[in-house]
Amino acid sequence: MNVLERLDKSISLTSDERMLFDSVQSLAAKQIAPRAEHADRSCEFPWENVRAINELGLNAMFIPEAYGGAQLSYTAYLTCVREISKACASTGIVWATNYHAMKPLIDWGSEEQKSRLLPRIAGGGLAALAITEPGAGSDATGMKTTFREDGDEIVINGSKTFITNGDVADLFLLFGKWDGIAGAKESISVLILEKGTPGLSVVRLEEKMGTRASSTASLAFDNCRVPRSNLLREPGDGLKILFASLNKSRPSVAAHGLGIARAAFEDAVNYINERKQSGKRILEFQGIQFLLADLASELVLIESWLWQLAARVDAGEQDFGIDASILKYRATDLAMRMATEGVQLLGGYGYCKDYRMERLMRDAKITQIWEGTNQVHRQLVGRSFLQR
Ligand SMILES: Cc1cc2nc3c(=O)[nH]c(=O)nc-3n(C[C@H](O)[C@H](O)[C@H](O)COP(=O)(O)OP(=O)(O)OC[C@H]3O[C@@H](n4cnc5c(N)ncnc54)[C@H](O)[C@@H]3O)c2cc1C
Repeated sequence: MNVLERLDKSISLTSDERMLFDSVQSLAAKQIAPRAEHADRSCEFPWENVRAINELGLNAMFIPEAYGGAQLSYTAYLTCVREISKACASTGIVWATNYHAMKPLIDWGSEEQKSRLLPRIAGGGLAALAITEPGAGSDATGMKTTFREDGDEIVINGSKTFITNGDVADLFLLFGKWDGIAGAKESISVLILEKGTPGLSVVRLEEKMGTRASSTASLAFDNCRVPRSNLLREPGDGLKILFASLNKSRPSVAAHGLGIARAAFEDAVNYINERKQSGKRILEFQGIQFLLADLASELVLIESWLWQLAARVDAGEQDFGIDASILKYRATDLAMRMATEGVQLLGGYGYCKDYRMERLMRDAKITQIWEGTNQVHRQLVGRSFLQR
């Protein structure tokens, strides 16, 4: 058993969770990974993978039983994100986005909202998290989408850009500013928008460098009306919900990046064990051994931080924003480095599409950009040491 296999064995899972992890590993290797190349080339949304994931009932694992789910630990959820993303980064982010978008509803929604809306996702629906706008990226407080109260309805006007699952989602967790509350931060509010609402349109789908089979949509809201009962908490509660929710989605984005890193590492190790030059296997050269040692140790240490943080979240800890930022930028920087070194280790073959390393390098890049760019996370971590 190598050090990574030992690390996997040490993840704290119940016997049910371990069985599920084994099923997800098998699904990922036998069905999802073989479809990944076609999905990347064709940019076709991975519906077959979504169906296969739903046959295992995976959405249910992050939704409480009272709302149609069969909730397992956060640790178990993260193991599944990593395994699915290792097989196909597009499918990984499609599925993880369901969690990112619905966790705020689970944590902050009313009983009525959760009973009405969550069973759709538990049963296999797709969700989207809509924050970013053309003029509001790293600084979400610059968003311009407005929510105006009109009797017992809320009228939405504005737009969002770069929304994962934006063209296929059944439910959208949508952030905007409450008309009538002053202040860029104070006015931010959040509601659930349902698929098919009149006035909601998809205006553009991005053609991307990587994660090409996941859809990334620009949305427009033209006098969309949603019932007031779809508002989460009170007008103006959006920013605190946003911050609390991002803390839980950032380890998930880290697990996505670590899935890509694992795939790149395993492919590189297999290749340099086989490929010979100057009469030796590439891994027999000492310079390559040093490089591999550095990559393996970073992978082990960052994954260990992932599982440690996941266990703390499972134990009920709430104050882990900076810990999640450290994890997010180190895991995703490693994904990019691992894939780049992987291409280098495969030589010219790494640069060509016959091997998936080329795709992994393109897939890895976005992980450093979304869910808070890595510069922003470094700023948050550095700033946390400023003395008053
Ligand atoms: C494929 C894809 C999927 C996405 N999915 C979603 C989604 O589902 N939902 C959603 O809401 N959004 C989504 N996003 C948006 C993503 O979160 C943003 O792209 C990201 O937050 C960065 O915003 P921006 O692109 O406007 O860059 P900008 O904020 O304009 O940043 C440009 C550059 O400036 C740097 N910068 C900005 N501020 C600072 C600072 N304070 N200090 C140092 N450097 C800084 C950034 O790090 C970056 O390098 C997605 C984006 C992509 C490309």
